[in-house]
Amino acid sequence: MKCVKCESKAVFLDPCLCKEHFIKNFEKKVADTIKQFSLVKKDDKIVVACSGGKDSTTILYLLKKFHGNVTALAIDEGIAGYRNETLVDLKNFCKLHKVKLQVVSFENKFGSKLDFMLKDGGNPCTVCGTFRRFLLNKHSKEYNKIATGHNMDDEAQAVLMNLTKANTDLLGHSVPITLPVKGFTQKIKPLYFCLEKEIAAYALLMGFDVGFTECPYIDRAYRQKIRDELNQYEQEHKGTKKNILLKHLDVLKNLKFEKREFQHCNKCGEPSKHTVCKTCQLAENIKSNLVK
Ligand code: SF4
Repeated sequence: MKCVKCESKAVFLDPCLCKEHFIKNFEKKVADTIKQFSLVKKDDKIVVACSGGKDSTTILYLLKKFHGNVTALAIDEGIAGYRNETLVDLKNFCKLHKVKLQVVSFENKFGSKLDFMLKDGGNPCTVCGTFRRFLLNKHSKEYNKIATGHNMDDEAQAVLMNLTKANTDLLGHSVPITLPVKGFTQKIKPLYFCLEKEIAAYALLMGFDVGFTECPYIDRAYRQKIRDELNQYEQEHKGTKKNILLKHLDVLKNLKFEKREFQHCNKCGEPSKHTVCKTCQLAENIKSNLVK
């Protein structure tokens, strides 16, 4: 099959594009999202939350290309056979592209790797997500923006997850740029309108050395069920994911969210809704082996 823009052989079928036009098209889509939502300003200090996977590596590469100076920040949760491998890819990538990388581990901060925190069968994703968000925010304070590799699939799943769990106060997080809140680094998501399969194709075509293995705990994530259903819908009704996000952004425009005020956690000093933040509560429970 031929590229719809030239006579070359197509390497991607939806839309039908050759390697050169696919790469151009993809990079333009990301640049357009950055422009449309004013994600990046000239003097922004940007740190990219990186895992060594295709999404965060792609956005690290593109922000360096578009913006210049960016730093990478990675969290090592301590997941054997997975994170240790993606971190090797990330370290190599950063060395090759001359990007400063900081790695922060659960083991150093919380005294144990994720693999050993929940021997009693608790939900690893709850602990992993809470601790990872905490560390990303804590270690991005010297920057004014933190970029993440969240893509259209992730964000459409998040919208549905928050609706099905009635977490309506979290719906405002599924946006290309979060509102400024004191104590939190503003989050930007330049891949918001890129499908996971497009990013995978871009990473492959660009020759990024990234693995495509999934976390061994993925089957225990609530997100996984939503992901499978959504992929089924997308296959049968093309454009479902995009429609969810466009409608979601449309609805958000007409909603008023209460201004979020945070106090300081009595234990760690980080922003918290309660006297002791969720991270410190979880860390304490894990120490006492109470997490279920
Ligand atoms: Fe963490 Fe769960 Fe994601 Fe694995 S699947 S990286 S445990 S949130």
